Amino acid sequence: MKKRPVIERFMEKVTPNSQGCWIWTASQRDAYGDFWLPDRMHKAHRVSYMLFVGPIPDQMDVLHSCDNPLCVQPEHLWLGTDKDNAADRDMKGRSVYVSGERHGSAKLSQKQVEEIRKKYQRFINGYTILSREYGVGRGAIRDIIKNKTWRQKRAAEREFAERRQMELDL
Ligand SMILES: [Zn+2]
Repeated sequence: MKKRPVIERFMEKVTPNSQGCWIWTASQRDAYGDFWLPDRMHKAHRVSYMLFVGPIPDQMDVLHSCDNPLCVQPEHLWLGTDKDNAADRDMKGRSVYVSGERHGSAKLSQKQVEEIRKKYQRFINGYTILSREYGVGRGAIRDIIKNKTWRQKRAAEREFAERRQMELDL
């Protein structure tokens, strides 16, 4: 029987959410996703990093910018140490009070989100205009618009991961 590509097995266990996270839906342990590679069980977010971004140096951890341990979205993963992780948490704790922009899109209904996507036109109805119209931050508008292209991005990521997989000889 022909072995199925790792990337294929990996992506079928992932469901995107409205924050752009890829949520791991298969088995988990200690709050993290589990994924089986030929040698042993690995944490799913670490496998994602290896597939989509690059090798993980010794002594480094793969950390989440979205703070969701079940997320395996490569854009939400970064390399750091335990110390970096603590510093990051600290900073985010403060920034929530300062700006609150990350949560700006929570004020919008799904209907408004769809409206914004329809209305958006680069240079005419850009982020700034829409952010004023809907009373949310530019970042929130940008996220909404970027989510629209999630499918295209995913195709490009998949292509990249397939190449990585060959390099890693998985
Ligand atoms: Zn995430």
